[in-house]
Amino acid sequence: MRFEQDRNASGEILRLLIQKMAAHPAAFNPLTYTVWYEFVAGINPALSEAITKILESGNLLDDKAIEKLYLKNISDSDADEQRESLQKLLGKIAGFTDETKKQAHQFGDNLQVYGNTLKQHPDASRLDTLINDMTGDTNKMRGSMQTLQSELEASKQEVEILHQELKSARGEAMIDPLTGIFNRRGFEGVARQTFDDQASLEKGVCVLMVDIDHFKKVNDTYGHLFGDKIIRVIAETLKSKIRGQDSVARLGGEEFALLLTETNVAGARTVAENVRQSIERGKVRRLDTQEQISGITISIGIAAYVIGKSFVDLLGQADKALYLSKQQGRNRTTVFS
Ligand code: GH3
Ligand code: MG
Ligand code: MG
Repeated sequence: MRFEQDRNASGEILRLLIQKMAAHPAAFNPLTYTVWYEFVAGINPALSEAITKILESGNLLDDKAIEKLYLKNISDSDADEQRESLQKLLGKIAGFTDETKKQAHQFGDNLQVYGNTLKQHPDASRLDTLINDMTGDTNKMRGSMQTLQSELEASKQEVEILHQELKSARGEAMIDPLTGIFNRRGFEGVARQTFDDQASLEKGVCVLMVDIDHFKKVNDTYGHLFGDKIIRVIAETLKSKIRGQDSVARLGGEEFALLLTETNVAGARTVAENVRQSIERGKVRRLDTQEQISGITISIGIAAYVIGKSFVDLLGQADKALYLSKQQGRNRTTVFS
């Protein structure tokens, strides 16, 4: 089922999405509602990615944009199209095999006739005709088997293409649906590119690990949905504090990572402290009571690339530094050394 949120959870989502709808010019119709619902609930990765892109480019969602998002990412048109293609393909294959079956049948009948003729001790000229007919039939049969084989080969490729389309439609995603930033898979993809590029490594690369402090307590005190909102706010803050060539990801739970390029340790520390202080100073409005909650903090660990280290090495080092930040009282930045 598309919607699994119960009355309470969907009520929180409703409150959040009303703010979104109010801030954008699209009409308050069911299309707009559904688009914002799925975005706020974080249940449609492709949609979240598309909306995030629009918002990042500074545009607002009007009726046209909503309709486009709805048709592309919500209505089942993609799935319908794929079902149709698959059905056509199956029909085509069934057609080929039917035709070949018919011909094979005919071939069998003819062989029977030739056999009977042979039993009647035909003379030399009759035998000559028989052999000619048999050769003709055999060639025809071989031809239609070859056609079937190449048709099946082509169909196999079509099936493969359909399979790939299905995979991307299912969003074997690089984007975290709750926040719209990279997930672990997406982050590893970006990191792989950076670490494959010697020139970019030489300009300095830093990995930062970020973890929300005492997040379990935040959830316990204010509820899981408020916790989710905090995760989104922190993702937004991280995104706003980095440059275009940097990357930010939610690795899972309440844990984030940054990949900063053309950045040395001092630069990474500046970014980290900027983010940390901004979160520390920030207030987040509670969903139900409008109460402003403050005191949310994060801890950060930094690792800088040195020759011979892999991305996984750096991630491990950043994690160790993060652990030290936690140990030394949280709400601080530690550089791995
Ligand atoms: P520490 O300062 O040591 O990091 O303490 P912590 O409570 O943040 O760490 P811990 O790892 O014990 O707890 C993490 C909590 O994060 C537990 C889990 O309930 C919560 N959490 C993980 N993923 C999500 C999520 O997607 N949404 C919400 N709301 N909470 C989450
Ligand atoms: Mg954690
Ligand atoms: Mg934590």
